[in-house]
Amino acid sequence: MAVLGKFSIGVGDRFAHQAHAQLQACILASKAGVDVIPVWNKSNREHTIIGSEPASVRTAADAAVHELGWKLPYFCDADHINLSTVERFLPACDFYTIDVADSIGKPADLSSIDRFTSGHAELLGAIPMRGCGQPIEISPELLRRTAAKFLFAIQEAGKIYRRIEASKGEDTFIPEISMDETDSAQTPAELLIILAAIADEGIPVQTIAPKFSGRFNKGVDYVGDSAQFAREMALDMAAIQHAVASYGLPSNLKLSVHSGSDKFSIYSAIHAAMQQFSSGVHLKTAGTTWLEELIGLAEAGGDGLALAKEIYAEAFAHSAELCAPYATVIDIDSKKLPAPAEAARWSSAQFTAALRHNPRCLDYNPSFRQLLHVGFKVAAKLGSRYLDLLEANREIIAKNVTENLYARHIAPVFLGPASRTIYNTASRHAGEIA
Ligand SMILES: [Zn+2]
Repeated sequence: MAVLGKFSIGVGDRFAHQAHAQLQACILASKAGVDVIPVWNKSNREHTIIGSEPASVRTAADAAVHELGWKLPYFCDADHINLSTVERFLPACDFYTIDVADSIGKPADLSSIDRFTSGHAELLGAIPMRGCGQPIEISPELLRRTAAKFLFAIQEAGKIYRRIEASKGEDTFIPEISMDETDSAQTPAELLIILAAIADEGIPVQTIAPKFSGRFNKGVDYVGDSAQFAREMALDMAAIQHAVASYGLPSNLKLSVHSGSDKFSIYSAIHAAMQQFSSGVHLKTAGTTWLEELIGLAEAGGDGLALAKEIYAEAFAHSAELCAPYATVIDIDSKKLPAPAEAARWSSAQFTAALRHNPRCLDYNPSFRQLLHVGFKVAAKLGSRYLDLLEANREIIAKNVTENLYARHIAPVFLGPASRTIYNTASRHAGEIA
């Protein structure tokens, strides 16, 4: 039976060259005392932009697992699939992020809304949440409104789940349901109602990705009220535990935090909530490994630095087109973008300081970082020119990939603030990050 462990990390690897370096970060975690299950995720959008197939993710993951002798489970995630895109992921993947955000708000038929609301009287009133000083309160209006907003989407999720199950067999894969790519955040009360509906639909969901309040921009820190986020996360975890106990959902059901990389200012809240509820999370990173490839190339100097600058110049020239698909998840201040001619004069140290996510570094430039983050299409177009340099600079890139995942993500989220001394030894930057 496919079971996702308590702690897991979604590692995107756009060009399928860093699985080994990514897995090294999980090995460091195990050595530090916490097992973090790697999940290689790649969305249909990424495959389409790069021109790759899901089988390449599986091949790279299998090779890394074999080379490094990883004995724990690992998974390949068909990230953000729906009924129209799931097909080509069926042979290679054993984790499915069923994305129903587009179906939120579409009306379910009245009879199913009636059936749901009349069948869930236990959801009405003030529902005490174990481990929380605060109950979740649901009025008849909220129950009905939430059912009207989400029931159709959950029925869609059921169709997608059953399509995957028909192909792969029961209990052979991890089902996740994602609702993060939508306009408004879901409250803990809505999450509880959604989970009841997911249980009714018969989906043995192991991870759920709600949209949290605040902005989860790609590759940069959280923007929002981190104290409010902490309260929301605790209540979400309480709602999940309540739903597991009440509706027979899998006992390992946990939150999945999408675009979870680089959200340094909420990692202590995530860690504290996990401790409070003895729960885990799935931290899904946002394809930022590719930025570590660029950092490694720039750090290497010579041809590597030259290509990193060329990619920036090209991304700058095509920024409107590159940013368009990501408009809701990036915030680039174009006035802060260096002119390509200026960046062309930068040393390795200047380029990496601007790009590397070190909030304490005065030269760190989040606009520069976000533009390059969405600029992977430029590298994809370079084809073997890019890939050959990745291979020629394998070591220096791997060091950056491993260090970024372990010191900036796994350690603060899964090991917590006490890990500072542990990850200081792994990273010369780590002390500046916590
Ligand atoms: Zn997502």
